[in-house]
Amino acid sequence: MTTPTTSPIDTPTASTVPTPSTPAQARLYQQLRGHLAALKLHTAAEALPAVLDRAAAEKLSLTATLERLLALEVEATEARRLAGRLRFASLPTPATLEEFDYDAQPAADRVLITELATCHYLESATNVLLIGPPGTGKTHLAVGLARKAAEAGYRTYFTSAADLAARCHRAAIEGRWAYTMRFFAGPTLLVIDELGYLPLPAEAASALFQVVAQRYTKTSIILTTNRGVAAWGEILGDTTVAAAMLDRLLHRSVVLNLDGDSYRLREHHARTDTLRRATTGNTRRPLS
Ligand code: ADP
Ligand code: MG
Repeated sequence: MTTPTTSPIDTPTASTVPTPSTPAQARLYQQLRGHLAALKLHTAAEALPAVLDRAAAEKLSLTATLERLLALEVEATEARRLAGRLRFASLPTPATLEEFDYDAQPAADRVLITELATCHYLESATNVLLIGPPGTGKTHLAVGLARKAAEAGYRTYFTSAADLAARCHRAAIEGRWAYTMRFFAGPTLLVIDELGYLPLPAEAASALFQVVAQRYTKTSIILTTNRGVAAWGEILGDTTVAAAMLDRLLHRSVVLNLDGDSYRLREHHARTDTLRRATTGNTRRPLS
């Protein structure tokens, strides 16, 4: 990905429009703006007067001036593409890996998560399994990794196991099964959140299996679950499907086991403690 080398310049205002000294120069300037607009280089077209002014003031070479102008367009294009990828990704929260508190979750392997944040695992279609009880940061890490992937330019999509199952079910009824399977095969990274919170009906388990099978060895899945893999037969209602799915998911995979108290409850306890200290000076938690 190209990184523009110049810093953004001020947006041009009426006062920064260069005053052409001759009618021929004015015509040339208008033609240049017209070319930029025709090529849909709108950021460059808008920045043109300011870039030309600055070039004149700093006596920049033609090459340096063109580089500045086009770097602005490249920067704007990349920002637009990133916004598009993030919109498509449908991340449910604004969580980032940088906000993840490793002291609160000692089971989380910081070195491994930092390595995953580089997105290299996507090149080898490696899967990531996040396993742990509710509130231990599985969705937070999945969202953070998905954000990194989108930022690195990868097509990324976030869904929950229940949503995926519901969409496949509707697709089957409405005759869009093949289209929906292609949709879930498309992204370089597919996050499937919350497997195991609800038992899946047989047809949902089979849809999930097909999504996993068609991505196998080609593209990555991050899957979060509150159940150990031994319980997957129960979640999927079929031990053969569960075994076949696990086989494909685990074949090339990284497993992160999280444990400990729910972070949600930690925050709740901390708030309750603060409140209690403020009102009674006592920090003991209730016996519930
Ligand atoms: P899970 O998916 O495992 O049930 P979540 O990732 O949804 O848990 O975490 C619950 C809440 O606690 C979220 O708001 C999340 O951002 C926050 N959280 C959990 N673990 C951590 C952590 N180690 N550092 C910072 N925030 C955390
Ligand atoms: Mg979750």
